[in-house]
Amino acid sequence: MVYPIVVYGHPVLRKVAENIEKDFPELCKIVEDLFETMYKAEGMGLAAPQIGKSIRIFVIDGTPLAEDEPDLSDFKKVFINARITERSGDMKLMNEGCLSIPNLREEVNREAFVKIEYYDENWQFHDEIFEGYKARIIQHEYDHLDGILFTDKVSPLRRRLLKGKLNAISKGKFEADYKTTLPGQKVR
Ligand SMILES: [Zn+2]
Repeated sequence: MVYPIVVYGHPVLRKVAENIEKDFPELCKIVEDLFETMYKAEGMGLAAPQIGKSIRIFVIDGTPLAEDEPDLSDFKKVFINARITERSGDMKLMNEGCLSIPNLREEVNREAFVKIEYYDENWQFHDEIFEGYKARIIQHEYDHLDGILFTDKVSPLRRRLLKGKLNAISKGKFEADYKTTLPGQKVR
């Protein structure tokens, strides 16, 4: 099932999401729906809060970018109850966007490496280090679980300049090729 994607200004995007238990109802279905919703919107990652569920799951599929980023050729993963235990390496600026903030891209500074513990969709535990593009996508999606958006991470000056745009997005003034849920629950 394809969910509408929750848009900037909706309170669920600002909540700290909850860890889940292995027997969480319809966990398989939620993971499947996250992928389906992400593909429909042509995204590379999607976190559960973006479909209105305040639980600590996100999915990533970077493989469509593999032609330009060979690193991503096998990077399709499910992260459940993830916990970043270490961030290291140089900070790097890179252009980011987010399905919850349509038509807006900004340069965001992030660490080059992350160490992360998580369960996959088969409830296997992992403790891994990711770098580069992978670390970038993971940090973006992980932030969603803590109620943080990439626009929070731009410089104070940029943030001030973005205020009007973000306000407009929260009022539905944007074009998106996928279904969205506006603050106030209106689906369109
Ligand atoms: Zn996002």
